[in-house]
Amino acid sequence: MKGNYTFTIIKPCAVQSGHIGAILGDIADAGFRVAALKFVRLNKKEAQEFYKIHEERPFYGELVDFMTSGPIVVAVLEKEGAVEGFRSLIGSTNPKEAAPDTIRAKYAESIGRNAIHGSDSDDNAKIEASFFFSRNEIFNSEGGFVENLNAAQ
Ligand code: UDP
Repeated sequence: MKGNYTFTIIKPCAVQSGHIGAILGDIADAGFRVAALKFVRLNKKEAQEFYKIHEERPFYGELVDFMTSGPIVVAVLEKEGAVEGFRSLIGSTNPKEAAPDTIRAKYAESIGRNAIHGSDSDDNAKIEASFFFSRNEIFNSEGGFVENLNAAQ
């Protein structure tokens, strides 16, 4: 069964360019409910850990430097089929290939400075949400705590 939660980051470039409100508006317009939200800045060790899966890729150092270059907005979002639906909403990694009206087509500057992150699987959504949020920071639609994103799906 497809899950109902995904995790996102509004990246430093989009925060710096003043796009937080517009991006959150696009997310709401697409039918996602915000289950958790905060404004944070990663240190180098945290960014290296979050992107560990890309450790061997040539862009890893640049990605870590970029993701620590300024504050980011992190959020957990709820909608039926959230992971897949959100990946469609944000568009391709490379904004030159992103479909028109996607968040990356509208706000990304380049493949590195591509405005937004979206989890690529239900398991990764849970891992990434847990990286930033504790159990009393993620809320269901009634305002109660979401104890376990996978169990809630
Ligand atoms: N990235 C990059 N150069 C590349 C490919 C990826 O800087 O050639 C960055 C980009 O910010 C991307 C992130 O690394 O969002 C993670 O890459 P992934 O392939 O997982 O893309 P995503 O799932 O974010 O679309």
